[in-house]
Amino acid sequence: MNEKQTIQCLILGSGPAGYTAAIYAARAELKPVLYTGAQPGGQLTITTEVENYPGYPNGVQGPEMMEDFKKQAERFNTDIRYGLATKVDFSKRPFKVTIDDTTDVYAETVIISTGASAKWLGLPSEQRLNGHGVSACAVCDGFFFRGQEVAIVGGGDTACEEASYLAKLCKKVYMLVRRDEMRASKIMQQRVLNNPNIQVLFNHETLEILGDDHVTGVRVKDHKTGEEKTIAVSGFFVAIGHKPNTEIFKGWLDMDENGYIITKPGTTQTNIPGVFAAGDAQDKIYRQAITAAGTGCMAALEAERFLAAQEAGV
Ligand code: NDP
Repeated sequence: MNEKQTIQCLILGSGPAGYTAAIYAARAELKPVLYTGAQPGGQLTITTEVENYPGYPNGVQGPEMMEDFKKQAERFNTDIRYGLATKVDFSKRPFKVTIDDTTDVYAETVIISTGASAKWLGLPSEQRLNGHGVSACAVCDGFFFRGQEVAIVGGGDTACEEASYLAKLCKKVYMLVRRDEMRASKIMQQRVLNNPNIQVLFNHETLEILGDDHVTGVRVKDHKTGEEKTIAVSGFFVAIGHKPNTEIFKGWLDMDENGYIITKPGTTQTNIPGVFAAGDAQDKIYRQAITAAGTGCMAALEAERFLAAQEAGV
């Protein structure tokens, strides 16, 4: 099925970046069409309380906040549609985007705000206790564990950064690294190893996260000695990497080795004029709702300017 009418501003994704882009584009009368993607509302719909988004002095539940974002986008008549972009053709404008493998839509500008997904260990206990002591975001949830003992799994820069963050709040942080060395940059490793609140356990594999309705501990195996033991913790953080949801743009857009879309510094412009990227799809460093929203705003303003320049023939 083809939709003949060309969309001026097509937004892919419904997290803070996508909805913010929609609010700005709609108010600029670009009549944006937003496709929600596979997880309407994005990553915040799987978190609990959000306390660091300005404007909510008493905090807000992640799903509720995304409902607010959606309502604000709808208020200005954003055309919100359920569907996942499965293929793109950016060879010429209007760009062609295929939704759910079945519908082709055409757009003069595309804002990619497809986000990223946290990687998980894949343990049933991790899934069961997600949001009940298990989290993939220390900056979001660390505060709830202040003064307590927690564990974090991972050995990359994210795990080091998050372990250091948690060490400021928590009584003790156990860092579970599966190999005998970390992947993180040397400086980040040193920061962790020198921190008296962090105990790094090399060669440790997570076997199970313990607890009925809240995390009470973690069962680990030391691969060097073969010993299995339980560590009592009330929080378990997973920091084994994120995967940007950018697979369908491969071959069209410049990306780094991890699949994050590369934008021109200080802008949301990709290597294809008229295609913009906002939020976690292009941000592996900050990954916050507020930074995603900020880049969503930038993308809409840039799309508006791009369309105005096309119209003026410049
Ligand atoms: P990385 O892919 O760099 O690291 C993932 C870590 O998790 C590795 O130590 C890996 O172990 C471990 N891991 C993966 N799967 C499992 C598993 N199933 N069980 C246990 N451990 C596992 O991801 P990051 O999110 O840390 O970083 C992504 C990118 O972002 C990197 O390029 C990083 O440099 C960058 N970054 C930069 C920052 C900065 O500059 N301030 C901050 C944060 C990220 P193994 O090594 O054995 O594979």
